[in-house]
Amino acid sequence: MNKGNKIYEGKAKILYETADPDLLIQYFKDDATAFNAAKKGTIHDKGIVNNKISTKMFGLLESNGIPTHFVQNLNEREMLVKRVTIVPLEVIVRNKAAGSFCRNYGVQEGRSLASPVFEFSYKCDALNDPLINDYHVLALELATKDELEIIKNFASKINDIMRSFFLKLNLELIDFKLEFGRYKGKIILADEISPDTCRIWEIGTGRKLDKDRFRHDLGSVEEAYQEVLSRVTK
Ligand code: UDP
Repeated sequence: MNKGNKIYEGKAKILYETADPDLLIQYFKDDATAFNAAKKGTIHDKGIVNNKISTKMFGLLESNGIPTHFVQNLNEREMLVKRVTIVPLEVIVRNKAAGSFCRNYGVQEGRSLASPVFEFSYKCDALNDPLINDYHVLALELATKDELEIIKNFASKINDIMRSFFLKLNLELIDFKLEFGRYKGKIILADEISPDTCRIWEIGTGRKLDKDRFRHDLGSVEEAYQEVLSRVTK
């Protein structure tokens, strides 16, 4: 599959057209950003690792009945994906308190939650991705009522699937971010699933194996990403 025009370049990935108008090539970069790009850097070989982890996770979800944009892996840094129109929402699922949840609600990192928390942020860098609720989504026509129900249902199932998958690897899925898109009238999972978009802690030690190592200068960032890769592909 030959790469055509670049149609989008984000913080961590680039999308290229292909000869097929329904398919794009998703290229994973080593660039890392945090705090709405206030902090920038690179994580050596992150693109390779995240492409492999995302490939594994999309495969896992597809085999459990979740439709995704993943078509096939192409090479170390590229996967073939369905061309979707992204729903401008960051769908965040939390199993334990971390990150902005601790800041917003004044709770300690790692605090157990009585039930998972589902959040929406409006995907808009200029506004700093503000937290919104179902009413905002519908009033601003970011998604329809039916789409919203499907997205919530998928997010909940994805959480169940990923949590039990990571648990078997002695890893705890603390929280993660999903993005969905419209493809031929249907909602499917898009974007990526990787240590850039999930918080993953080692069970027993609490060792952080995700982008928090970069965000907070904890060191051993590459090693953490490699550790997740080696466990998920075991
Ligand atoms: N997340 C993401 N992209 C974003 C914002 C959050 O992938 O633009 C992920 C983040 O890595 C974490 C989860 O979503 O796994 C919850 O993030 P949080 O709201 O705590 O934001 P943070 O404090 O990390 O900015």
